[in-house]
Amino acid sequence: MKDDLASPHGCPVCRARFRGSSQCSRCGADLTALLLLAAHAYVMRLAARQSLRQGDRQAALASAQAAQRLHSTAEGRLLSVICTIAVNEYPGRPQEPA
Ligand SMILES: [Zn+2]
Repeated sequence: MKDDLASPHGCPVCRARFRGSSQCSRCGADLTALLLLAAHAYVMRLAARQSLRQGDRQAALASAQAAQRLHSTAEGRLLSVICTIAVNEYPGRPQEPA
């Protein structure tokens, strides 16, 4: 699954498109906190995938949903849906390794 370190959608002050800098190119707002949130969400999605691979579906869902609350992305939404299905379809104990 593709999941780049998706950047914030834009400057929350002036709505300028994000250009990969910690400072808005239009209004000069400091976007560092926004970038840190996006990076934290990225790490939480990695943890969700790891939990899913290990069969811990509840932990995977919790991580995926927490990541979406921090920084919502299309890929993160898909991961949350997959984790939700995994929990609802297989609510029992974690999978045994094959
Ligand atoms: Zn701005």
